[in-house]
Amino acid sequence: MEILGSKELMEQVRSKGLCTTCGACVDICPYHQSHKGRIALTFDCDIAQGQCFAVCPQTEFDANELSELMFQVPFQNLPLGHYRSVKSAKATDKIIKGNFQNGGTVSALMMFALEEKWIDSAVLTGSKELVPEPVMADSSEDIAKCGTTKYMATPTLSLVNKSAREGRKKLGVVGTGCQMKASASIRSNPMNKDEYKDAIALSLGLFCTWSLDTREFLDYLKSRVGREQVISMDVPPPPAEIFVIKTENGELELPLSEIREMTQEACATCPDMTAEWADVSVGAFEGKPGWNTVIIRSQKGEEWVNAAVEAGYLVLDDLPDESLDHLIQGAGNKKKRADNAKHEEVQ
Ligand SMILES: Cc1cc2nc3c(=O)[nH]c(=O)nc-3n(C[C@H](O)[C@H](O)[C@H](O)COP(=O)(O)OP(=O)(O)OC[C@H]3O[C@@H](n4cnc5c(N)ncnc54)[C@H](O)[C@@H]3O)c2cc1C
Repeated sequence: MEILGSKELMEQVRSKGLCTTCGACVDICPYHQSHKGRIALTFDCDIAQGQCFAVCPQTEFDANELSELMFQVPFQNLPLGHYRSVKSAKATDKIIKGNFQNGGTVSALMMFALEEKWIDSAVLTGSKELVPEPVMADSSEDIAKCGTTKYMATPTLSLVNKSAREGRKKLGVVGTGCQMKASASIRSNPMNKDEYKDAIALSLGLFCTWSLDTREFLDYLKSRVGREQVISMDVPPPPAEIFVIKTENGELELPLSEIREMTQEACATCPDMTAEWADVSVGAFEGKPGWNTVIIRSQKGEEWVNAAVEAGYLVLDDLPDESLDHLIQGAGNKKKRADNAKHEEVQ
């Protein structure tokens, strides 16, 4: 894997519309900065090799090296990535109430990890006046406030870079597939820095089919809901084909086709629906509202989920075979679509 610099990152990724806005290049140096859903290079940096290029989820990477690092096995190109088991789960009443997207499994796992000191803080995504933003959660109350899915691309990983620079340790990180791939790359110390210390203790990936262009969607949202306070957004399972926005005054159902038009260009080339490079990945359990699908990937992830169940934060159940088959099919289709999109891009 050849590591290049900022200039090549701009040429190969950003200027081609392939930036996923994960935030892995932000706050490493003073030059890559983010503002309201856009990442920009503020200085003509001519460094030959940069961490920004090395950790970008859209540059070339060594899948075997990451697989050995995360799961201690060689990379196999499986639809769901490497896993030990797939379950369904939901949070119990033991956890602080929040506006959770599905079963609250993500928040429950993070609260358990924080309260039991598996992590010191959690890097999450909250929002301020509708704009999604990275949030450092230092308490279960902070975690509860970050519940619900903001369907917009957010440079959450910038906070991992900032925290590591400030000497924070034992971080829990929650993010989508591109963010999990970048966080695994950060952990691999690709620049072989002597002073490098792994600040990430646990990583939790979110299933993701697409993420919206933040600026475009915010304009759209404002035109639809005006000054009403948005409580949550959801994509009900097929065949609904709607996007639901819940506000303080009720629910608004919008055609999903209209929303999908605002998808970030980069998402078309992403092959990873289930956030393969995480300790544990979580998504909705289609057909069982209020529950999540959970993919347990690493040994540490397995210990984490089991301990959270034992401590009463989470309940687990088996996932029916047909649900697993459906998930494998969906994840495989995303890989095929990404391959086709990459092929078209080369032509
Ligand atoms: C852009 C996006 C697209 C998704 N698409 C799918 C999908 O196609 N199929 C599916 O099954 N699931 C999808 N999910 C995941 C799903 O919406 C839920 O996050 C997941 O099921 C966990 O539910 P929960 O109740 O445990 O989450 P909660 O306990 O409510 O926790 C939600 C967590 O999501 C994090 N978060 C919120 N918005 C973002 C964001 N923009 N970027 C990064 N992290 C964020 C917060 O930090 C919070 O910790 C998507 C998530 C995102 C962010």
